[in-house]
Order: sequence, then C-alpha cells, then structure tokens
Amino acid sequence: MSAAPPPRSSSSLPDLPLFPGTVSASGQPATLGVMGGGQLGRMFVHAAQRLGYFTAVLDPDPQSPAGLVSHHHIQTGYSDEQGLAQLAALCGAVTTEFENVPAGALQALAASRPVAPGAAAVAIAQNRIEEKSHFTASAAESGVLAGVTCAPYAVIETAEQLKGVPAGFLPGILKTARMGYDGKGQVRVKNADELATAWAGLKQVPCVLEKMLSLKAECSVIVARGWDGRVVSFAPQLNLHVDGILAVTQAYEGNMPVALAERAQAATKTIAKHIDYVGVLCVEFFLVDDGSADGALIVNEMAPRPHNSGHYTMDACDVSQFDLQVHAMAGLPLPQPRQHSPAIMLNLLGDVWFDAQGKARTPDWQAVLALPGTHLHLYGKTEARVGRKMGHLNITGPDVESVKATARRVAAILGLPGLEDL
Ligand code: ADP
Ligand code: MG
Repeated sequence: MSAAPPPRSSSSLPDLPLFPGTVSASGQPATLGVMGGGQLGRMFVHAAQRLGYFTAVLDPDPQSPAGLVSHHHIQTGYSDEQGLAQLAALCGAVTTEFENVPAGALQALAASRPVAPGAAAVAIAQNRIEEKSHFTASAAESGVLAGVTCAPYAVIETAEQLKGVPAGFLPGILKTARMGYDGKGQVRVKNADELATAWAGLKQVPCVLEKMLSLKAECSVIVARGWDGRVVSFAPQLNLHVDGILAVTQAYEGNMPVALAERAQAATKTIAKHIDYVGVLCVEFFLVDDGSADGALIVNEMAPRPHNSGHYTMDACDVSQFDLQVHAMAGLPLPQPRQHSPAIMLNLLGDVWFDAQGKARTPDWQAVLALPGTHLHLYGKTEARVGRKMGHLNITGPDVESVKATARRVAAILGLPGLEDL
C-alpha cells in the first residue's frame, strides 16, 4: 500500500513523513518526542537514535531511564503547560510510553504536532470499562472477533451495581477501572461479602468485577498501524505471569495452536482499526478451555504502546516493536516484521539483586553472558527493589529446544521463577 498523507485535523500541523537525519529550515534536527521516561521510553529512544533522530523525553524524574539517554530531557509534570510547549517546539512528532499519561496532555500536543497514539485511543486504554465496551463494539463490527469476547464482567460504580452482581460472576477479580498495572488495583474475591469488603477497600472507586476464569495460558499480540491505515503484526507470544507480573515470554512457531494464533492477530488488527489507532498496540488474551481441542480466546486488555511481552523482538526479529513505534509515528513505511530466531524473554525484577537471605548481590552476569544466544538489556536503574523491573534477558538460538535449555540454565543461575514447566 502506498503511504497516503496522514490525516490532519489542522492544516498548521507539520508534514509527515519526518525523515531521519534531516534538519529543518530553522536549523532544527529531526526530533521525536516521548511522554514518559521509563524503560519503554528508553528503548524507544535507542531505536529512534539508531535511525538518526534526535530525541526528547518529558518526565519529571531527573534519573528516568529514558531521560538519561535522550538528547533532550524536559523535567516537568505531564500536564505542565511549559513542558508540553517545549516538547512540541522540539519535536516533529510525539508518542507515549505509558498509558496513564494524561489524555489532556496528548490532546494539547496534538494541536500542533502529530501524536501517535492519539488521546482518544489512550483514554480508552486507561479505563477498563471503556476498554471492554470497545472490545465488544469491535467484535460486533467485524465478525472476526466473534467468540473473542471479554470475561463475563459487571461494572461497579454504585452500591446498587454492587448488589446486582450476578452470583455466576463469583469467584471473581475486582479491578479498578483506572490506574491498574502489573496486578496492582486488583482483589480476588470468592463471594458477595468479600466483594463488598474489597470494593470498600478500594475506596469505592469505579471498578469492574470479572469472573475468575480457569486459564490454560495467556498470550498477547502486538500490531503497528500507520497514519495510512496499514497494519503489520508480530505473531502472538505466550506469556507466563508470576504474582501478577510478566515473568516469561515464549515466542516461536508452535507456541500455541495455529488457528488461535491467526484469530488473535485478526482480532488485534480489528481492535486497532476500530479506533483508527496509529502506533504500536498490544492486546492481551487468555486461552481458556471450552471443550474444543484448541480451547478459546478471551480478550483481556490493551496497552497503547510497546509491551513487555514484545521485548524479544529486539533480538529475534528483523525489526523490533520499538522500530515500528518510530516508523509509525514518523510516517515511515511499516515493513512486515520477520522473526528469524525462536526466542524466550525472561524478565529481570529487582528480586534477582538479592540472595536467598535478602542480602544485596550483583547477579552472576559472567555465567549468564557466557551462554550463547543471551542478550542482556538493563534499564539503567541504579536502585534494585523487589518487584521492580530492572531489565530483561532475551534468549535466541537455532531451535526451540536449545533456547529452552539455555533459559533453564539462566533461571538456575539467577534463581528465576516461572520456568519449572518449560
Ligand atoms: P494488569 O493491568 O495488572 O496487567 P490484568 O487484567 O492483565 O491486569 O490482570 C493481571 C493478571 O491477572 C492476568 O495476566 C492474569 O494472569 C490474571 N487475571 C486477570 N483477570 C483474570 C480473570 N478474569 N480470570 C483469571 N485470571 C485473571
Ligand atoms: Mg495485563
């Protein structure tokens, strides 16, 4: 598909594509901006800089992982008018690296700069209630999603709604509509009493109660969609969570039934198209037993940005999710990614920096890096804390068995969980 000019709400917006390595008439190098300075922002900055772009990060933290490696680091709050004006003045296009960026800030930036993803799409991802409505509407529109529904759920914003929760939805998981991540803002409840206590404990903020499903597995799909509507996709990756945080991603052919893999990709593309999404989008799915040989897909949630489960693409694919984020926002072509090696990604939480007695240690990188096909990515965080994402390790190899064998050896060296059944 040829690249059509990006849609514009205002003729005063600068033109895309923004070519890397170019300098504007006023002497400004082509610069890409990102809201948020966490590890996802850092990997975005690296991808943008490799192409020759200058980068600007907006994050109040002077030590933010992305701010530390960017040409420009604007250290203001996300809604700070001056900070946003500075970002807009520096950048030819702006993206985001975390979904809780104030939608108003993206809207303000969009008045003068291409912003991908846009405020409306990010606002949907910020709210589980809207997100689920969006999934349901996408399903109705296309038919592709038929059967890929959400877990049975009830919206709880009032005491009446709390009382009206169908008994069949319990046991369940109560999730705050906003600001949840890595299992935070969630309470597992067995019955109506526990549900009432949990909602009170969450200060009665708007929530959804989801029926607790018996999961066979979890997977996610990452797509990138351009201003012209072209969409490309990575194959689904299989994800294992420990204590609500992603621990292991398995990315190789045969990681899940082919029919489900195709369905998950089609569903994700539809979800992106339905809101005219621009940028990288990740949709999480559950695999549940429905009596069929393959099992069924349930759509869980979406992230309007690159995703932890896509980090393997940095070493196992010819273009990574961060490369595609750069391409999409800048209006460059979106090549279909090709995975050249089977891969396993192991998340490295701060836990690894402590021994069994809780004493601080340096993980045995010597032993890990001696293993062929290990690719270490640390995020430049100087303080390790239990549960804090410090980095990840990608393992690639010539075949799935050797990748698994290396993953097991790494897990033994570092004491990582989640590989017992690999
Ligand atoms: P977060 O924003 O924290 O990632 P999720 O909704 O993805 O929130 O939930 C985190 C994890 O909790 C999921 O990856 C899954 O392992 C488990 N989980 C969430 N919802 C359900 C459910 N309805 N049934 C069973 N397990 C669930
Ligand atoms: Mg999740």
